Formats: sequence, C-alpha cells, structure tokens
Amino acid sequence: MDNFKNSRRQFIGKSTKAGLALTAISSLPAYFSACASGSAAKEATGFDQQPLPYAYNALEPVIDAMTMELHYSKHAAAYSKNLKEAAQAEGIDANTPLENVLANISKYSTKLRNNGGGHYNHELFWKCMKPSGEGKPSGKLLAAIEKDFSSFDAFKTQFSDAGKTRFGSGWAWLVVGPDKKLVIGSTPNQDNPLMDASELKGFPLLGVDVWEHAYYLKYQNRRPEYLEAWWNVVNWGYVQSRFEQQA
Ligand code: MN
Repeated sequence: MDNFKNSRRQFIGKSTKAGLALTAISSLPAYFSACASGSAAKEATGFDQQPLPYAYNALEPVIDAMTMELHYSKHAAAYSKNLKEAAQAEGIDANTPLENVLANISKYSTKLRNNGGGHYNHELFWKCMKPSGEGKPSGKLLAAIEKDFSSFDAFKTQFSDAGKTRFGSGWAWLVVGPDKKLVIGSTPNQDNPLMDASELKGFPLLGVDVWEHAYYLKYQNRRPEYLEAWWNVVNWGYVQSRFEQQA
C-alpha cells in the first residue's frame, strides 16, 4: 500500500496538467462516498497527500496555476513528507488519524506540530475550494451563520478581517466551537483549532491560507484582495458536509 501511494505521489509530481486532471478524477468516488456517508462517519485524515481534486489551473483567475502547482507539489508535499518523518521518529503509527495526533500535539516536537498542522490544513484547504463556488451556503449552515453572525455579509467581513489581521503567516478559520456555536478566528504558522496547544479551539469547517506562498505571485502584498477574490472559489457544499458531521 505504501509503495502504491508513493508511486502515485511520484506520478502526480511528474504528470502533466492533463495527467493530473485524470488522477484527480480517479479520487472523486472516495471523496463523494465520504460526503454521502452522513453524520455517522467523520473524515479521518491520513499522513499522505491526497490528489488535488481539480487541475492546477482550475481556480483561475482567483488562484493562478503556478501558485497552485508550487503550493500543492512543493509546499504542501513537504509538510506531508516531514510529518511522516517526525511521526516515525516519535513512535506514532502511520495509520493513526492525524486528528488524534493534533489533539495531543503539545506532547510532541515542533517539527511534528508544524508539519502535522501544515498537512492537515492544506488537505482541508484544497477541499474547501472548487472552480466556480456557489457564492454562499444554504440550509442549516446558512441558518447557523445568520444566527451566530447576524448575516452572511457580516460573517464574510469578520472572516476576511481575521485573515487580514493575522500578523505574518497563518490561517483564518470558521469553526464549530465546544459549545456548538460557530466561531471565527485565526492561528499562527501551521497551527489549527484541533490542536490542544491552540488558543482557538473547535472543529474547522472552513480555513483560508494567508501565508504569502498562497497568494504572492498574483497579489504580491495585497492580501485583502486575495481574501476578497477567494470567496468566489469556496466549496460551500463541502463546508456544509463538515457542518452536518458536527450536528
Ligand atoms: Mn500553504
């Protein structure tokens, strides 16, 4: 299995955009079955990088193909590789759900914290986006957003502000807090709200990467412009499926 995953990762790394698109399509049934399995099954995150669910150029013009390629195949791939190295060095079985490791991250090294968080955050980030997003959520998630933030527009402003004001590198989040209320916040570096060491705690529904590597080629220093454009590629169907897991 490991050999298969490794060769698949090497294949992805070397493949053309067309090849990548085919690889991505082959991953869709697993993704949809995870969504369709309903509230009983929470998704567990493994240590291997999963195929990107769309081609590198699929999110243009919001996110350019070069940024996506470098982000996925270099930055995010390195988090997965370094996570596996750290896990092995620290005696963590490679089949442990990453969520369980993050919940106890204060017991482990900085390398595991940075790369375990980095891998989890990116695996979530790719799935939180899609070409031509729906623009806004619907159903129970929209109702909860309107209840906890007064309106969808107020939610968007508060979420964007969390990204804009995160000093240096980090992430902005929408999470289901311990009391089941929706909360917006941000974390530094590659920390996330599943970590026992994080100030912001809860189950992440939506996260946006505000590291410069996520936007610098196209937006340079204009992080607010990136955050504004990013709403156009949010995969609200996926965010809703995460919310329903928590209901
Ligand atoms: Mn990133």
